[in-house]
Amino acid sequence: MVALASASDYAQKVMPIDHAVLEQLRAAAQEATKRAYAPYSKFYVGAALLFDDGSVVTGCNVENVSYGLTSCAERNALFRAISEHGAGAKIAAVAVANAAGAPCPPCGACRQVMSEFVTADAVVTFPGEQGWETMSFAEIFPICFHFVPEAR
Ligand SMILES: [Zn+2]
Repeated sequence: MVALASASDYAQKVMPIDHAVLEQLRAAAQEATKRAYAPYSKFYVGAALLFDDGSVVTGCNVENVSYGLTSCAERNALFRAISEHGAGAKIAAVAVANAAGAPCPPCGACRQVMSEFVTADAVVTFPGEQGWETMSFAEIFPICFHFVPEAR
């Protein structure tokens, strides 16, 4: 069995994008928190997606009084990107931030939705328990749902 690189090894040695680019992406996600609509939870989240064509698209969480209708910053950013640019580009990196600086990895629903639009070595960075965590998408979501009708 081959051991995966630790998260710190990933950020220091393996990560396929520049640290300065990642810092810019984190800043864009932080800026997006200012546009979040979160009157119920007061948990203001922003996400910034870097696509393999170099474009960056941000999103924020949008809550609803019917709580189950709330949509996360990551999915809102992705849906905005596809609505504006189509689904051709793939996500190369994702940054998630929140106004409180609380730990905030992407939720399972966002991971599944993003899984159809990521590069093989996409980078994910988010506030962890002890500062920024930076991991590959494969590390945070190793097995995603696939629908293969022919296999039935
Ligand atoms: Zn989510």
